[in-house]
Amino acid sequence: MNECFYCEDGEKRKSLMIEICRLKYSTVYLNRNQKYRGRCVVKLNDHKTEYFQMDTEERNGYFAETAAVAKAIFELYHPDKINYATFGDLVPHVHIHVVPKYQNGADWGSPFDDTQGKVVLEEAEYQEMVDALGAKIKELMNY
Ligand SMILES: [Zn+2]
Repeated sequence: MNECFYCEDGEKRKSLMIEICRLKYSTVYLNRNQKYRGRCVVKLNDHKTEYFQMDTEERNGYFAETAAVAKAIFELYHPDKINYATFGDLVPHVHIHVVPKYQNGADWGSPFDDTQGKVVLEEAEYQEMVDALGAKIKELMNY
């Protein structure tokens, strides 16, 4: 599956997101674009392209982990709502964008938008978020 952005896990993936932790069913990444503070991606560990290709155990496990990621973001960054998005026309490997939204922040009431308003942090700030989210997710998952 060298054609797959997520299975390849190379420079392109690393240029867009930083790995936070690998869980049983998923791997969690912090988006380098932090326009929505706390924004993450939850990637299914196996290469599948649709939710209906997962068996019950994998699907339940994957969504439980996604919910824990959302809760970790909520507890650490206090958004007003968390948005969840799966598209994958061009990157079909199952992944969910977990996007915290803030009432006085960008695109409240609209879908998230990657085309404008990119927010880039210092490496130390990313590392602080990766450490905090990783610890919180593992605490919530009892890992
Ligand atoms: Zn893949």
